[in-house]
Amino acid sequence: MAHSGVVAIRNRLYPAAEQEPGCLRHCAHARFVWNLAVEQQSWWWSGRGSAPGSAERQYQLAEARAAEPWLREGSSSVQQQALRDFDRAMAAFFDPANPAGKPRFRSKRSTQGFVIRDTRVRRLSRKHGQVFVPKVGWVRFRWTRPLPTKLGMARVTVDRAGRWHVSFPAPQPTVGRESTGKAVGLDRGVRTALVTSGGQHYRAPRISGRQAQRYLGLQRRFSRQRTGSAKREKTRHAMAVLAARTANRRKDWAEKLSTWFVCEHDVIVLEKINVKGMTRKPAPKPDPEMAGKFLPNKARAKAGLSRGILASCWGTLGQRIEQKAQAAGATAVFTDPRFTSQQCRVCGHISSGNRESQAVFRCKECGHQDHADVNAAKNILARGLPLATGELVPAHAPGHGAPRPRKTPAPASAAGTARTAA
Ligand SMILES: [Zn+2]
Repeated sequence: MAHSGVVAIRNRLYPAAEQEPGCLRHCAHARFVWNLAVEQQSWWWSGRGSAPGSAERQYQLAEARAAEPWLREGSSSVQQQALRDFDRAMAAFFDPANPAGKPRFRSKRSTQGFVIRDTRVRRLSRKHGQVFVPKVGWVRFRWTRPLPTKLGMARVTVDRAGRWHVSFPAPQPTVGRESTGKAVGLDRGVRTALVTSGGQHYRAPRISGRQAQRYLGLQRRFSRQRTGSAKREKTRHAMAVLAARTANRRKDWAEKLSTWFVCEHDVIVLEKINVKGMTRKPAPKPDPEMAGKFLPNKARAKAGLSRGILASCWGTLGQRIEQKAQAAGATAVFTDPRFTSQQCRVCGHISSGNRESQAVFRCKECGHQDHADVNAAKNILARGLPLATGELVPAHAPGHGAPRPRKTPAPASAAGTARTAA
């Protein structure tokens, strides 16, 4: 989706109490049909039979509907759409240019949803409208942004906190911007906030200390409660609500900040980040008294929690900068992250000793001193500029008539990829 210039306009959906069961049934049917397709595909993956095609899947759905009354009672259009969804996921998986993961089983525990075809909407007021859901009727949603006049599909989802949304695909709005001739490098840290090559610091919204404590408390309670019990479900719901609240604040922040960066800069350089590395589980602490036993590790669990939230926040920010840059005629570049925090921006010397502390960078070779994260952001910018096309770009990092780095960890051409708007 990131490169196709299509975004989703996502609005809160408010099914009435009597409409919710119908919507949930659509979710269950879509999940069932999707999982059926995954299962068939897995037979083929393990080398048995031939790969079922899209037509064959639709035929098998018709058979399943004939055999299963509960499936037959559902909307055939919702169920067919779930198969088309699967076809698209398969196509993405086989696309060598942009391979997505293998379509996997969908669990009842994750976000649920279904797709409506030939979507119809009508307006109720300035802020609200209704969307037609097959077999359910007109369902109210909050109308936040203008919708395209021709609506194709709409996706209805419900998250673990029980909140419903409806997403309409829309072309990425082009951002009206004038070229500024400016370029910026961004350092997305694990512990500190986002730091720019210009020396600005931004702090991502994090789960607050009290909320983190509460979340960890819930997590502990959850692990003690009996599987399938009503109390356990209640705990799960409370955890989901907390997580959703933080996720919302974070999304909002990423939207605003990415818009600002793209409006103000022709070139934005980021590191390719390893989100997996950032979300690693905290290491267990061995108990010195008893070999083979581990101490409870609250501080580390908490650090792990905020790290995970921060990591996904950085991922979203990078994605949105890339999408908006593409729509606005700016360039987003992703560079090799190796040694950006240990390399001297002035002389190019790389040493872990250059990093005097978390905050201070002092080069062992030339004595250059800077805020450690700002130095890293400047390195990121310098690595990205050669990758960005266009004459608007200054030849050196702003503020540096810098001599060429003596050592570079990798040739610039291999250090990353430039994604330029056509
Ligand atoms: Zn130096």
